[in-house]
Amino acid sequence: MLDSLSRPLHDLRISITDRCNFRCVYCMPREVFGRDFAFMDRAELLTFEEIERIARLFVAAGVEKIRLTGGEPLLRRDVEKLIAMLAGIDGLRDLALTTNGVLLTREKAKALAEAGLKRITISLDAIDDATFRRVTDASFGAADVLRAIDNAAAAGLAPVKIDAVLKRGLNEREILPLAKQFRGTGHIVRFIEFMDVGSSNRWRMDEVVPGSEVLETISREWPLEPIAPAYAGEVAERWRYADGAGEIGVITSVTRPFCGACTRARLSADGELFTCLFASSGRDLRALVRSGADDDAIRNVITSVWRTRDDRYSELRADLPSSRKVEMWHIGG
Ligand code: SAM
Ligand code: SF4
Ligand code: SF4
Repeated sequence: MLDSLSRPLHDLRISITDRCNFRCVYCMPREVFGRDFAFMDRAELLTFEEIERIARLFVAAGVEKIRLTGGEPLLRRDVEKLIAMLAGIDGLRDLALTTNGVLLTREKAKALAEAGLKRITISLDAIDDATFRRVTDASFGAADVLRAIDNAAAAGLAPVKIDAVLKRGLNEREILPLAKQFRGTGHIVRFIEFMDVGSSNRWRMDEVVPGSEVLETISREWPLEPIAPAYAGEVAERWRYADGAGEIGVITSVTRPFCGACTRARLSADGELFTCLFASSGRDLRALVRSGADDDAIRNVITSVWRTRDDRYSELRADLPSSRKVEMWHIGG
């Protein structure tokens, strides 16, 4: 099934909660997401059964890979039950989860892996604790996340992907410490450009640290060589250390957009379907499911939404008028 720009539907990201135990300045700044912020009620969230049903219909429509995200997905109670339900879907090849890690105890990592989770991405924006706390604005330290990475590896989820968002003036000094921390471990750090997702993070182009700068910084210390993408449509550019100490990635969503290869649909925690990270509206699948629609009716909506999709926000960014966009914690990163 191809969209209007001939892109197949390959992956689905599912946000399973809009809540988070961090207040990262580029995602959920505390001045917006304070005590009084109204998060979704439990009844608004898709249930595990609803998620599994929708996911199954997406797999029937061509999706091979599902990633759970949020908000912080490990805040959703018994998430391993959902993993087990999704792992049982015929035709699904890959099941992954993105987390900030602080709730990933040894037991949780083991439970997730045993339930059928195949891969995990853990976000970590700084090794230096003061910088980590400035970015995440929460009561946890970088050591908590490093422990989570070890827990994931001990549960058989290695290599772990470690995603680091860089924002100018905040944490670009962490490029080398992050690279150093994971060189030779088999884990893969990926540096992500700060994106203008949503309307709360006061994004500015001059706060984006370009992927090219990351590569220059690291290769001055440890020379790098490019490697081919692992699969068609991989968003991270891959580079390996010439001395054999492993690989890193850069995700240049702003300076070198990759909309032409974007094969991703997104489902928010309350069941809205989005076809772009920068969308301003989605399609309400929850209403459809809760109205008693049968599988065919839901599948038809999924198919028609994908077939008419023409999103390529990042390629057009400079020419588009500013508009109100959906927030990252809502749509799922
Ligand atoms: N809470 C989990 C976490 O942080 O890993 C999962 C959800 S979070 C929205 C997913 C990813 O989106 C994280 O790696 C985060 O750093 C990234 N992210 C959030 N806001 C971003 C922004 N404005 N630009 C680039 N990446 C962003
Ligand atoms: Fe929470 Fe992840 Fe957003 Fe940070 S990036 S505030 S951990 S959802
Ligand atoms: Fe995909 Fe939209 Fe990002 Fe382009 S801007 S890569 S279409 S999510």
